[in-house]
Amino acid sequence: MNDPARPLRDLSCADDYDPNSMPVAKAREVIARFLSPVTVTERLAVRAGLGRVLAENVVSPLNVPAHDNSAMDGYAVRFSDLKPGGEVALKVAGTAFAGAPYQGALKPGECVRIMTGGVVPQGADTIVMQEHVKAGKDQVTIGTGHKKGQNLRRAGEDLAAGQVALKRGIELRPAEIGLVASLGIGEVTVYRKLRVAFFSTGDELVSIGTQPREGQIFDSNRYTIHGMLTRLGCDVIDMGVVRDDPELLERAFGQAAGAADVVITSGGVSVGEADFVKDLLNKLGEVVFWKIAMKPGRPLAYGKVGGAHFFGLPGNPVSVMVTFYQFVRDALLVLAGRDPVPPLPTFKVPCMSSLKKAPGRTEFQRGVLSQDASGAWSVRVTGEQGSGILRSMSEANCFIILPTGQGNVDAGTLVDVQVMDGIV
Ligand code: AMP
Ligand code: MG
Repeated sequence: MNDPARPLRDLSCADDYDPNSMPVAKAREVIARFLSPVTVTERLAVRAGLGRVLAENVVSPLNVPAHDNSAMDGYAVRFSDLKPGGEVALKVAGTAFAGAPYQGALKPGECVRIMTGGVVPQGADTIVMQEHVKAGKDQVTIGTGHKKGQNLRRAGEDLAAGQVALKRGIELRPAEIGLVASLGIGEVTVYRKLRVAFFSTGDELVSIGTQPREGQIFDSNRYTIHGMLTRLGCDVIDMGVVRDDPELLERAFGQAAGAADVVITSGGVSVGEADFVKDLLNKLGEVVFWKIAMKPGRPLAYGKVGGAHFFGLPGNPVSVMVTFYQFVRDALLVLAGRDPVPPLPTFKVPCMSSLKKAPGRTEFQRGVLSQDASGAWSVRVTGEQGSGILRSMSEANCFIILPTGQGNVDAGTLVDVQVMDGIV
């Protein structure tokens, strides 16, 4: 039965839905169905907009360039004065510098000395480069081989007044900030930042500053999650470590969902741990628990807790980063208003290591992309690939993505790599 209040639950009616063997692409597609972007916007001074998502098209109020102007240092001439078969001498009537136009119109037999960016004087229609003239005292001699309209930038050629200069949904990078400024626009309308609350779960975890007892470990996931969220431009709410205790977890989920658009946890979703978390989350909202056909990162929980989107990531430190980049990143960008969401850059290179891989799941091995002396790129795997080995992420600069059907990989085979620099 379809229950409009519980849309995720209706998934179980779909023929190809198997929560115990979710293909990566299917999980992404399901998540994407439930995302609606923030709608609140704010006006910011253009420089403060760096890294933010544009919430309204920027329409050019003017022609860029504003006037026909010269692309070269040279002479503005009337093309009809030039002789197709020989030389012609033209009187230099004056100068047109960038910012200081020639006053008046060009008469037949005249030219104007013009510099790059100078406004093309009335009557002139062609620019002859200074290297192509013989300059005398008050006149220049011009030969053959010129085309009408050459070396001239037309008014409105880059952008016409009224044209959309920047589209809603893009991230404002330095180029866009400069472009807005070039139009004389001082403020931009951007979406408010996404608020993301996160906490780690696990009785074994201690935070920096506490001496771990035997069997305890330092919490690292909160630090990688903090870093990844910050790089994506989110406002972050770090809620610390929460013990595996239903009451404490319920309180933490309640607080997180009340304060944020998105709640992210790590740990507590693997077999054995998931049962009481499952009961708790189904009480607080609607959450599905998946075993994704991938390595690392098999267990993943997704849904809504209160009004917030929820991602329950696995506990292992590498699994956290991989699932964040394969599922959470795109979702956060959609929620933040990015449209379209640019895919992570992925391309094929030869793999210099032989890789062990069982068919039936997508693998995200950690790789090092490098260039040889001839400039050709290839990838090798970082050493051990265990999902608890965070060092493998630190040594890597890319994921080597091995698709579901793939078996072992022989050295020299082309593989897909996804570069991490700037994304992880
Ligand atoms: P779990 O999914 O909670 O069973 O955790 C799987 C593994 O990840 C266990 O070895 C945990 O100790 C480890 N782990 C869980 N959370 C963290 C964390 N925040 N930082 C480092 N390791 C963690
Ligand atoms: Mg745990």
